[in-house]
Amino acid sequence: MSKSIFEKIIDREIPAQIIHETDELLAFRDVNPQAPAHFLIIPKKRFHRLAEVPADEAGLLGRLLLAAAAVARQEGLAADGYRIVINNGANGGETVPHLHIHVLGGRALQWPPG
Ligand code: AMP
Repeated sequence: MSKSIFEKIIDREIPAQIIHETDELLAFRDVNPQAPAHFLIIPKKRFHRLAEVPADEAGLLGRLLLAAAAVARQEGLAADGYRIVINNGANGGETVPHLHIHVLGGRALQWPPG
């Protein structure tokens, strides 16, 4: 299967503003930010979406969430708060078929989302 945009970012085939990286995950700024702060956390391993992550990867999912919180802190979002979003599949609004966690902050966000 051909590489998604996010796999090309992982492989440094296209540029991104990377703000955190470990051997298993990458965090980078969203190219079309929906809030003053908007970044994505992705696993380097390819899962098309949350629903495809097997139970034996629960540890990786936990580390992705912890990394989201740590990078939010690093970005100065912890005091005022932020939102974590995972779009899963078409009705969820997922457009890139590689699991990603959105972190949005820097302004008060509405609830419920549209
Ligand atoms: P989703 O709609 O949940 O699949 O989110 C995909 C996100 O990836 C969107 O917010 C896009 O703006 C973002 N995105 C797409 N291409 C890039 C890119 N090359 N660099 C950074 N973010 C991107």
